[in-house]
Amino acid sequence: MLIEKRKDLRWADISAGRSINLALSDRGLAALAAVGLDDEARSIAIPMHGRMIHDRSGASRVSPYSGREEDYINSISRTELNALLLDAADRYDEVQIMFETDCTEIALSSVDSRQSTRLAERKCLTAKPKDQDPIQVSAEIIIGADGAGSPTRQAIEKLMGHDFKSDSHFLSSGYKELHIPPTVSGEWRIEKNVLHIWPRGSYMAIALPNLDGSFTVTLFWPMEGDNSFGAISTEAELDAFFRKEFPDLYTELPDLAEDYFNNPTGKLGTLKCAPWHYAGHACLIGDACHPIVPFYGQGMNAAFEDTLVFMECYDADKGDWATIFSEFYRRRKPDTDAIADLALDNFYEMQDHVDDPAFMAKRTLEMKMEQEIPSYYSKYGLVTFREDLPYREALRQGRLQDKILLDMCHGGKVPDGSLQDVYSKLQERLVSSL
Ligand SMILES: Cc1cc2nc3c(=O)[nH]c(=O)nc-3n(C[C@H](O)[C@H](O)[C@H](O)COP(=O)(O)OP(=O)(O)OC[C@H]3O[C@@H](n4cnc5c(N)ncnc54)[C@H](O)[C@@H]3O)c2cc1C
Repeated sequence: MLIEKRKDLRWADISAGRSINLALSDRGLAALAAVGLDDEARSIAIPMHGRMIHDRSGASRVSPYSGREEDYINSISRTELNALLLDAADRYDEVQIMFETDCTEIALSSVDSRQSTRLAERKCLTAKPKDQDPIQVSAEIIIGADGAGSPTRQAIEKLMGHDFKSDSHFLSSGYKELHIPPTVSGEWRIEKNVLHIWPRGSYMAIALPNLDGSFTVTLFWPMEGDNSFGAISTEAELDAFFRKEFPDLYTELPDLAEDYFNNPTGKLGTLKCAPWHYAGHACLIGDACHPIVPFYGQGMNAAFEDTLVFMECYDADKGDWATIFSEFYRRRKPDTDAIADLALDNFYEMQDHVDDPAFMAKRTLEMKMEQEIPSYYSKYGLVTFREDLPYREALRQGRLQDKILLDMCHGGKVPDGSLQDVYSKLQERLVSSL
């Protein structure tokens, strides 16, 4: 049984909330392929081959994600993707879905309590369907795929007390969504097949294309301070700020003030916790156990990848839930910790360094290497296009490569010598760092 607080979005009117989109990449696609849904997902996605970087003068340039044509990411609507997954779930008779049902309490009883066996075996949810009385649902196991504020995680934490470790960190920046509508003929007003970025030091805006010709813009901005959400309270201030900082974006946002003042400001944070399971009774997955900041476009991809690892653990230890859960946690935790750290790296890189001369020279060098040396992947490529490589290894290799290449490109100059020489040096350093 799947209990979901929201409406069935396949039939709900979502126009008021404007669906946001996500970057779907190879790790997410690998998990979708395992259930035969990757082609369908691609058919409702828009390929984005690189970043289009817009400066304050309104000029722009494209920085491809890779020197290899086949390496690109995909913009996909959250609603359309959810609909695809729900349709697939509906094809299984054994999957029952209760929509608009809030899981208000998760009762996991302590296994080593001196209470009766009957109570110790209890795993029970209180579910409150909309406009109805709460019902009790008992379950053999509970999988908490219930997002960053996970009620399942809170139930485990309550039960385990100090044995449950949780460390959360919020950025001083938040986010808000804005909307670039399509042209009157339904076309994209700005380049369609890229992820647009307006980097401005301590803040930035990005835009991802939608199938209907629109773009969803996300403004990442400090919550307080000079240039911040807290500093704008009138339409005139908002207009003046956008005209100055994002001139070419401003002209594409006819509903700027309406969007800005009506849409919520979201918080951005990372949470690492341990363990992710309780005694073979309950287990967390996805954002419930590893919410991360969105700057690598990997939160959903990592959650999908979780399912692949979970199924491998399930296949190895069928029926023994305590072993399945603890193996899943043991295998996966170092990788989700790594992507959490990488996502924070990218927060700083996207805001600022994309405009830095050494960074730009490094990108030029890496592009050439990706074109000519099939086994070379940039840090971004290791994370995004190498679904065969665990995140922890992408982090180790990627950070070391970045450091070495940035040193070589100091002053914004691509180093002399052959690409093969540069690659050999990198390999030597990577091997010696093991
Ligand atoms: C601004 C932003 C941009 C992002 N961009 C990207 C991106 O480009 N690429 C990417 O890979 N990731 C991205 N992410 C991350 C991505 O959104 C999450 O990692 C992903 O949604 C996690 O999926 P999940 O199923 O674990 O949790 P969620 O998507 O949060 O789903 C949890 C579900 O649990 C339900 N639920 C919660 N509580 C209850 C309850 N009490 N009772 C019943 N149901 C309940 C919720 O209604 C929800 O449907 C972004 C995140 C943000 C904030």
